[in-house]
Amino acid sequence: MTSNPYQPIRAEIKEVIAETPQIKTFVLAPEKEIGFLSGQFMQVTIPGVGEAPFTPSSDPKKNDMIEFTVMKAGQATGRLHELKSGETVGLRGPFGHPYPLDKYHGKDVYIIGGGVGIAPLRALLLALFHELERLNKIELRLGARSPEDLPFKQEMPTWGKREKTNLVVTVDRGDEKWPGKVGVVTEIMLPGDVNPEAAAAIVCGPPIMMKFAVKKLLDLGFSDKDIYLSMEKNMSCGIGKCFHCNLGKHLCCVDGPVFTWEQVKEIPDPW
Ligand SMILES: Cc1cc2nc3c(=O)[nH]c(=O)nc-3n(C[C@H](O)[C@H](O)[C@H](O)COP(=O)(O)OP(=O)(O)OC[C@H]3O[C@@H](n4cnc5c(N)ncnc54)[C@H](O)[C@@H]3O)c2cc1C
Repeated sequence: MTSNPYQPIRAEIKEVIAETPQIKTFVLAPEKEIGFLSGQFMQVTIPGVGEAPFTPSSDPKKNDMIEFTVMKAGQATGRLHELKSGETVGLRGPFGHPYPLDKYHGKDVYIIGGGVGIAPLRALLLALFHELERLNKIELRLGARSPEDLPFKQEMPTWGKREKTNLVVTVDRGDEKWPGKVGVVTEIMLPGDVNPEAAAAIVCGPPIMMKFAVKKLLDLGFSDKDIYLSMEKNMSCGIGKCFHCNLGKHLCCVDGPVFTWEQVKEIPDPW
């Protein structure tokens, strides 16, 4: 981060990868190295439009390049999707609390992701792969609306081939070529996947998915403090000044974006 938290660093777009019709990964070379921890976010300046917050999707140990995987949602993301290699964006951050990886040591790590929510989880997973010897196992349960809506199509199957890692992927609607499961992601969260007494669950995805995934985790026997959520509230400054992203008594930008269910369960409709 620069000494002025409002001052963006320039970053050149080195590659744009079309993940799905709505999601692209931008591989950026910042003019200064940026260190981040998985779960932290950055404010990305899109020239002519403004800023929007995104969580890097790349390996936090890779400091020369940083990747963001972005779904087209409105004005800022729409313009970002038009940018090409060689063009420049700005980066402020990283901001916020990361996933507390040390709390996952010795445990089963149950990662539940949906749609573009798989992007921050990719950074988490790549970080966890560096410390697999400290984990009991990783169980990945990922979903998307259809096979073409799954990001990281080439890379995803390799995750399940890693030591101590199991992967199950589902889609809401399959097609004739889809060999996997069909149904919402909560349908592939089953008793026995992990030991809830010695596990941490991490959920990131659309609000409706997060809501039902938390309910399922509680039914499976998880305690509130072992469920970690990446909360995405409308953000502006990213540094706790503007109060746009308040979540009950918390500010998503400085107290989150990673929260435990214990921290947010009392908030009426935290989604
Ligand atoms: C900490 C954090 C990390 C995020 N990481 C990612 C990521 O890795 N990949 C990704 O694709 N998206 C991510 N988002 C969401 C992303 O910031 C929004 O999609 C983006 O700001 C929308 O801007 P827009 O101008 O394109 O859309 P707008 O025209 O502003 O709005 C389009 C729709 O998106 C909603 N929206 C607007 N701003 C936000 C916001 N900040 N958060 C959630 N919804 C919003 C609006 O309510 C509206 O429904 C993240 C958000 C936060 C807060």
